[in-house]
Amino acid sequence: MNIYNIKSTNIPAFFDQLIQSGKVVIAPVLKKSGKVFFEQVQSYNQVATDYIQTAFSAKSVVFPKVEVLFSFNKTEEGIEITDSINNIPETVVWGLRPCDGSAFNYMTEFFLKENPDAYYAARKEKTTLIAISCAKADDGCFCTSVDLSPGSTLGSDILLTMMGEDVYAEVMTEKGKSSIDNSASLFTVSEEKSKDAFLANIDVKFSMEEIKERIKTAYDSAEWKNESMGCFGCGACAFSCPTCTCFDIQDEGTQNKGLRLRCWDACGFGLFTKHNSGHNPRTNQTERRRQRLMHKFKYSVENLGIVSCVGCGRCIRVCPAHLNIFENILSVTK
Ligand code: SF4
Ligand code: SF4
Repeated sequence: MNIYNIKSTNIPAFFDQLIQSGKVVIAPVLKKSGKVFFEQVQSYNQVATDYIQTAFSAKSVVFPKVEVLFSFNKTEEGIEITDSINNIPETVVWGLRPCDGSAFNYMTEFFLKENPDAYYAARKEKTTLIAISCAKADDGCFCTSVDLSPGSTLGSDILLTMMGEDVYAEVMTEKGKSSIDNSASLFTVSEEKSKDAFLANIDVKFSMEEIKERIKTAYDSAEWKNESMGCFGCGACAFSCPTCTCFDIQDEGTQNKGLRLRCWDACGFGLFTKHNSGHNPRTNQTERRRQRLMHKFKYSVENLGIVSCVGCGRCIRVCPAHLNIFENILSVTK
């Protein structure tokens, strides 16, 4: 790790140099609704700086909502196949929170550990993640319960921590170093400093070690029913989640021309597990809600050694039925 300091007044210049380098820069933008969304920007003036968390994560940069995998065109000479994996631009995601940085760490394990996904790999390779530590939090935030913190560097290429007139820059990767080197005149090498005084205070709501142990026997808990009764199966929790990776593959077109695409799906949808035979192994919302939570806290630990909930709180803020994932987990593991 390399550590630098940059004056807070020089942050706009650093940001604008990222844009001038020709990269696509995705950053948080405040919308009329009062919510903050990631979108492509052209200048630092567009960037939201006073927000706790974006409504959606930035996962679509590496795992788009709808992604054409390839298209085909049948001609007299034969079949032409165009692979969409080319032409992926160099991209910077600016201002993601440390929980979202660690979500990229999970997604990379999920997509690349076994049977590497070439589409994810190509996009991740071209993406630089510049995260900003959290100076404030709300009731939905619980990163400290899932072994993370408002200053975690896990998964990010650079983590910036605002320290008054100075910004402390922890550079974790070569990609991050390259971004700093392109704006070298704005940075000075720094000694290691404690970030604690500049980070949000987030209560620990449960012990992750205890939950990991107790969830091993939680599958048959009677509490699943109570904890899922309000769920509509709308999928908002999954679509806003930085670590939900369910997808569907569909073919569209005619005999002569068409494409194969992949789009987000959600294990909370009634059709997600429905077989062609009509049989559906998860017949109700309780079984679907249990699957989502067991995957986050048990199955991904067994498969990848990672809890796949980063405590960002989006699913709590967005749920129309006011379901709360950490309350649910505490209830089914008590
Ligand atoms: S957002 Fe709430 S209601 Fe919608 S699927 Fe998720 S838990 Fe169910
Ligand atoms: S499950 Fe909820 S709190 Fe956990 S990472 Fe996903 S959206 Fe965030």
